[in-house]
Amino acid sequence: MVTSSRIKVFVRLRPSDTSSNGGGRGSSGIDIPPHLFGIDTISNTVTISATEGGGHGGGHGGYNPNSHNASLTPTTFQFEKILPPPTTNSSVYTLSALPLIRSSLAGFNATLLTYGQTGAGKTYTTFGPPAGASAYKERGLAARAIAGAFEEINRYKTVNEGMGGTPIEVRLSCIEIYNESVFDLLGFSGEDDSKDSGRDGGVPSLSLFESPSAGVQIRGLKMPLVNSAEEGLNLLFESQMNRAIAEHQLNDASSRSHCIFTFHFTVRNPENNKVTSSKFNIVDLAGSEKMVKTEAVGKVQRESNYINKSLSFLEQVVIALASKSRDHVPYRQTKLTHVLKDSLGGNCTTLMIACIWPHLSHLDQSLSTLKFAARMQTV
Ligand code: ADP
Ligand code: MG
Repeated sequence: MVTSSRIKVFVRLRPSDTSSNGGGRGSSGIDIPPHLFGIDTISNTVTISATEGGGHGGGHGGYNPNSHNASLTPTTFQFEKILPPPTTNSSVYTLSALPLIRSSLAGFNATLLTYGQTGAGKTYTTFGPPAGASAYKERGLAARAIAGAFEEINRYKTVNEGMGGTPIEVRLSCIEIYNESVFDLLGFSGEDDSKDSGRDGGVPSLSLFESPSAGVQIRGLKMPLVNSAEEGLNLLFESQMNRAIAEHQLNDASSRSHCIFTFHFTVRNPENNKVTSSKFNIVDLAGSEKMVKTEAVGKVQRESNYINKSLSFLEQVVIALASKSRDHVPYRQTKLTHVLKDSLGGNCTTLMIACIWPHLSHLDQSLSTLKFAARMQTV
């Protein structure tokens, strides 16, 4: 049976300016003249006029209205859903992660990815805003998914009261992929920090292996058993603290690494004791902006090359999965696609939230994000 591997894409727009209340010009939070950028939340379309890679270029794709090669033909993209400001993380959760949690508890692997340029709101969406006044109110999808998973599980338990034992087991893990090395963000216990590592902080990089029964595994990955939402939230907090520490050591690398927070569910059918395993991944991808050659030197260039490679193979994997033959799906080309091998396409539910920063200076990056997102949902 060839099931559809179509990826659903939502587009989320952050307020263009979050320094003032509500942000942005007017109340829309979108700081681009309407003839250059417009959204329609009824037809779920975005219409944009920009010169991709045009204008004065620059690593952040500035828009230059005086550019001679400016071809400002508007392009309209349609997606599953457009989420303009001031859409809250709470509503994004209800529309995106909650259905995926449910489908994962029903035995299907699921993946939610956030994609977009640095600053577009990927981490805000997945892991919430930085600590501060709105941190709890606007907590990210991961925290909500932990709470939501336990609500679902407790409901299930009540329904199956008297069947004995815990029918659903939850384990959590969290990794960061930086320059094609895999780091365990729950594995900072210090036992192993004398070993050599691929990264400045002294944390060892983990290797991947494939088991015929369990699929792709990460050697030595910590996957603690979690008995309550509170325990889960503590682990989430620990993982993000460790990400912040690693980031600091690497000089703010969060935008140059992928972070994958995974729920591992084991569901035992109380009637026949059959066990089903499934996963739900929340992926905060590295910033998609392309560095201009002259800007990217040394370390930055190396990081940039790894990111371009992994995002481009992510696209190729999705496209290969969507093709009828599925002869060659290049999962093994990058750590990101290899880790996600059994969680993309096939019977998996995959949702991408393309994050846009609707500011005039990011028009070209917005176009390039929309193009990527549009390719992800084709076929
Ligand atoms: P990314 O992870 O894509 O680089 P962030 O999530 O860190 O971007 O967002 C950049 C900044 O914008 C942060 O200060 C964040 O709090 C803010 N921000 C992003 N999205 C929103 C939003 N929907 N509402 C309010 N502030 C946001
Ligand atoms: Mg981020």
